[in-house]
Amino acid sequence: MTQHPLTMNIKMVLKEKDPAKKPAQITKLAIGKPGGVDPDVDDYDTVVTVKCLQCNKELDHKQPIIAGLVDSVLQSQSAYFS
Ligand SMILES: [Zn+2]
Repeated sequence: MTQHPLTMNIKMVLKEKDPAKKPAQITKLAIGKPGGVDPDVDDYDTVVTVKCLQCNKELDHKQPIIAGLVDSVLQSQSAYFS
């Protein structure tokens, strides 16, 4: 599978705001979250689509081999943005 050419599509989707959520509650939820909370990034969900060009089908990006690939891309992305 890894020899096949893969395309990866990463979308940042703005999370739906909960109007009932107050800043005090967000602070409470942030405690214990590794690395703390980035208020900008935390507003977004990351949607990843991985497609194999040779099989012409979407791959399950939750598979460990695909997830590792996705993680490394996302990490290099956040390194780029910081
Ligand atoms: Zn394939």
